[in-house]
Amino acid sequence: LAAERAAFTERNPRSAAAHAESRHLLGGVPMTWMAKSLAGFPLYLGRASGARVVDLDGHELLDFCLGDTGAMAGHSPAPTVAAVTRRYAELGGATTMMPTEDAEVVAAELASRFGLAQWSFALSATDANRWALRLARALTGRPRILVNSFSYHGSVDESFIVAGPEGPRPRPGNVGPPVDVTETSRVAEFNDLAELERQLAFGDVAAVLMEPALTNMGIVLPDPGYLIGVRALTRAAGVLLVNDETHTVSAGPGGCTRAWGLSPDVVTIGKAIGGGIPIGAYGLSAELAERLRRRTELDLVDTGGIGGTLAGNALSLAAARATLTEVLTDSAYEHMTALSTRYTAGVQELITTCGLPWTVTQLGARSEYRFTPVRPRNGTESQRATDVELEDFLHLYLLNRGVLLTPFHNMALMCPQTTAADVDRHLTVLGAAVRTLTS
Ligand code: PLP
Repeated sequence: LAAERAAFTERNPRSAAAHAESRHLLGGVPMTWMAKSLAGFPLYLGRASGARVVDLDGHELLDFCLGDTGAMAGHSPAPTVAAVTRRYAELGGATTMMPTEDAEVVAAELASRFGLAQWSFALSATDANRWALRLARALTGRPRILVNSFSYHGSVDESFIVAGPEGPRPRPGNVGPPVDVTETSRVAEFNDLAELERQLAFGDVAAVLMEPALTNMGIVLPDPGYLIGVRALTRAAGVLLVNDETHTVSAGPGGCTRAWGLSPDVVTIGKAIGGGIPIGAYGLSAELAERLRRRTELDLVDTGGIGGTLAGNALSLAAARATLTEVLTDSAYEHMTALSTRYTAGVQELITTCGLPWTVTQLGARSEYRFTPVRPRNGTESQRATDVELEDFLHLYLLNRGVLLTPFHNMALMCPQTTAADVDRHLTVLGAAVRTLTS
């Protein structure tokens, strides 16, 4: 690890200098996000295109991180660039406070992909989740939100709760919570229907917010029947089911919702659908939209606390329209999924031939490996399998040889511009890293 850190420092003098110059001026993200696992300074971006980024020192990197899904359509895809440029000139930017026809097209496209009737827009997936949860509380009149232990839904206060032997507790590492999360939230492990049923029986849960498969800590797939059970239990308890498809949209154009025939009340999404421009969206089932319409007529007249000046802005929607209709098409998904299968098979072969105590799991266009010989079934098991030092070594080894992946969950994502040669190069470098470890 020390040798890879030294090589990283030597290889990236301009990033190091940029960091030295700006460290007192720039705080937080983007300075800290990816820097933790590097050598004390972040890699600065020079430019990006398709499946590649070029850092400030001019190294071209094969990008399998893709903005942790935000660039799943590839960097600056041509149709999206053209649409945003045109709409910027025509519509005067992102601060108009008026809907455009693009909004209708994007809503119709999302409705047909996810099977949910009515869509509203936000600026990020975090916003979409926050606003969906506010609506859920307003519609049900109940105070609490239930999430899966160690799931991640953005900086949504209610979601920072984990299960433990002594009961629920705030998720470690989140600073400045505004409220005691054990009072606003409930938690159950993914794949544990009995615990979910027990928690819902308290009668105070407005919504279950969950990913259909956990993605932020390796991929944790649902057991057969688990998601059907979740739907049955939430329906019986009058609890809204919110599927966060921000990452699981890798499963296909309609995420897991369409791929697995799910019927949530709400779907939230962000990142990928904007083609690199910030956006979030939440969709309501026809039944829920009708419920909201009736409540709005009666007493939910003022939806203060939901929305924002830039939510649903013209540029985000121009970007989303082009991205959905021209970039993240059915055939692009076929290409991305085939490459992900090739990558996953390659990692599996490494695991087998080198006798590594790892597992690798694919969900459509994304694939993540985990340092545990048995596939984790929930967030707590997956969290236990973290090996920060090994993760850092692999991340740096790959970066020093021109391959970028998402470090904190070892995630490799394909975009429409990724090629089979890119995947094979990634596998060759990963193989060399592994052999360094095992020789
Ligand atoms: N939902 C899921 C499942 C996520 O993984 C994330 C971020 O990683 C979010 C929501 C929040 O996305 P953003 O940070 O773009 O708001």
